[in-house]
Order: sequence, then C-alpha cells, then structure tokens
Amino acid sequence: MYKVGITGGIGSGKTTVCKIFEVLGIPVFYADTAAKQIMVSDPLLVAGITSTFGAKSYTPDGKLNNKHLAEIVFNNEAELAKLNALVHPAVFRAFENWENQFDSTVPYTLKEAALLFESDSYKMCDTSILVTAPFDLKLARVMQRDQVSADQVKARMDKQMTDEEKAKMADHFIFNDEKQSIIEQVLALHKQFLKQATDTLISE
Ligand code: ATP
Repeated sequence: MYKVGITGGIGSGKTTVCKIFEVLGIPVFYADTAAKQIMVSDPLLVAGITSTFGAKSYTPDGKLNNKHLAEIVFNNEAELAKLNALVHPAVFRAFENWENQFDSTVPYTLKEAALLFESDSYKMCDTSILVTAPFDLKLARVMQRDQVSADQVKARMDKQMTDEEKAKMADHFIFNDEKQSIIEQVLALHKQFLKQATDTLISE
C-alpha cells in the first residue's frame, strides 16, 4: 500500500492537517500516540525497557514510570539514544500491523511522526510531507494549546531538527501560515497521492 509520512515542528499544525486527510477517508497512524501505548503493551518493548532502565521503569500496576525514565534520558543523549533504539523499531512493527488491517481497502495511508526524519521512519514511506509555519505562530499556538511559557516551547523546539534541515529531506510541503488554505493544499496533495497510489498498484 502507498504510504505517506507527515511531519513538522512543534505547533506547525501537522495533527490539524492529518484531521483533514481523515475527513477524506485516509487512515492516519499517529506514531507518537502509538509509541506511548506500546511502551506498556508490547511485551518485547516492555522487557527491553525494563532490562535497560531497571524495574523502576514501570509501576507495580504496569503503568510507565515517566518520572523515572525522564530523569534518566533528560539531557543525556546516550541514554535517550538507547530508549529510541528500543522504541523506534517497536513503532515500526506497530505501524506494519496497523497497515495490514486495511488490505487495499483504502488508496493510501498516512503516518504522522514528529521524528519522521530523525528516526529514519520516512524510509518506510513512499513519500513525505513537511508542514511548516512561521516561528511566532508556532510559538503562540503551543503556548495557547499547552498553557506553557515561551521559554518552555523554545526549549522543546531546540531539541528538534530545524525546518531547513527537514526541508532538504521532504518531498511535499504544506504552509500552515493561516493565510494559505490548508484544506486546498491537502486536496491538491490528495489528488496527487491517489494518482501515485494507482500508478504504484499498476506497476506492482
Ligand atoms: P505538536 O508537535 O506539538 O503535537 P502539531 O504540529 O501536531 O503540534 P497541532 O496540534 O495540529 O500541531 O496545532 C497546534 C495548535 O495550533 C492547535 O491548538 C491547533 O488547533 C492550532 N492550529 C493549527 N493550525 C491552525 C490553523 N491553520 N488555524 C488555527 N489554528 C491552528
């Protein structure tokens, strides 16, 4: 099945854009939400996290001990890399399982991932979209949505790859500057993907 990866910096509006694709009947896999779920439900991943970061990684009733893990990986790139090396392959497996359920009943699927390029998961997709927005707008949106300060948003932004770096790897762009219609941009891309998906099916 034809797969489209979609990403964008914090507050760019990638989830908002995905909701428009969903209205068009395109199923969306939300990688970050899936990651949180499988960290407690995938036995292989739970075992990996427990042996790497200790039994304290989970509470006695099986919930993730976010505080314990955050203390280990926060500002420690080597430990964060270890966690990512466990979680990313598990998310790939979850994406494949999720995708198999559609079995050509939909023209294509979308995978939304904040770290689409950083995690190499774009390599599992046929094409990619980068959602971008002006810095001030992203800042204001996240401050409003999460009720946090500008400094807190900037600290999160500093941990992400820049739009310039992501743009070099992306195939398509959606400009969510609240001037250009995102619905029209989604419709134009949807048309392209329907054609691509059909062409891919014919050539298989
Ligand atoms: P994150 O990476 O933090 O999850 P995101 O890229 O998924 O962010 P969204 O959650 O889609 O971004 O959007 C951030 C906020 O901005 C939301 O509250 C959303 O409703 C709002 N927003 C996004 N795009 C627009 C738009 N075009 N017009 C008005 N509000 C918007």
